[in-house]
Amino acid sequence: MTPDVRPHEKLNRVVIFLGPPGAGKGTQAKELARKFSAPHLSTGDMLREHVAQGTSLGQRAQPIMGRGELVPDSIVLRMVAERIERPDCSHGFVFDGFPRTVAQAKYLGESLKQHGYKRPFVIHLAIDPSILLRRLTGRRTCKVGGEIYNVYERPPKVAGICDADGGELVQRPDDREEVIGPRLQAYEKQTAPLAAYYGRLGLLHVIDAAKSVEEVGQQVLQSVKSVRGAR
Ligand code: ADP
Ligand code: ADP
Repeated sequence: MTPDVRPHEKLNRVVIFLGPPGAGKGTQAKELARKFSAPHLSTGDMLREHVAQGTSLGQRAQPIMGRGELVPDSIVLRMVAERIERPDCSHGFVFDGFPRTVAQAKYLGESLKQHGYKRPFVIHLAIDPSILLRRLTGRRTCKVGGEIYNVYERPPKVAGICDADGGELVQRPDDREEVIGPRLQAYEKQTAPLAAYYGRLGLLHVIDAAKSVEEVGQQVLQSVKSVRGAR
């Protein structure tokens, strides 16, 4: 049986979701963070926010994201360093889409030590690549609250409208087929080696991400609760 989260139970660890674009990192990271009232730190969302606001960081990142490539480590690391300093991160938090390179993972390891966390808890959402195209082309996100839907798998009750807050559902510009190819290639080349990296450190928890959102969520919670807090 899946263990429950007690009222006011703290996450007290840093959870990382690894997996290719479309594996379900955002969906699961949001849900886990919600259960523990912990911050959900999506570097993709942070970058898109910079793009939307037209900051100088956003102006640098936008064309790179549009091509489906990774934004340079220096940009992402500065953004993450600033975010995890904030007081809401003192009882654990959930990363989604970070780290994405071995350099980012090394930086994170050092930074967590300085923040009093022993080691991250790494969940690898493993999935057959053939499923990803449908997940990515079908993805729609609420403009207001960021809720994630899928027109094929997890449609909203009313097309184009978020069930939770009535916000407009939009498609990300990089979820078009011509950008999905380069994104999957960037994952294979730069991010997939992280599974071996964390595997060698004995920190990798592999979960079958082809199952339903609910089943994957149960596995995630079970796995997080099976190991004592990492502080
Ligand atoms: P997905 O959820 O589909 O994997 P994300 O929302 O995490 O996509 O990321 C969207 C884009 O933002 C990436 O293709 C990349 O350009 C950029 N990005 C996000 N996180 C990182 C990161 N940690 N390092 C470098 N680039 C990143
Ligand atoms: P990622 O952050 O890894 O790119 P998302 O969480 O945004 O992935 O999910 C990608 C798409 O797949 C979304 O449209 C989401 O609704 C859908 N999705 C996520 N998990 C599942 C699942 N277990 N089964 C079916 N569809 C899913």
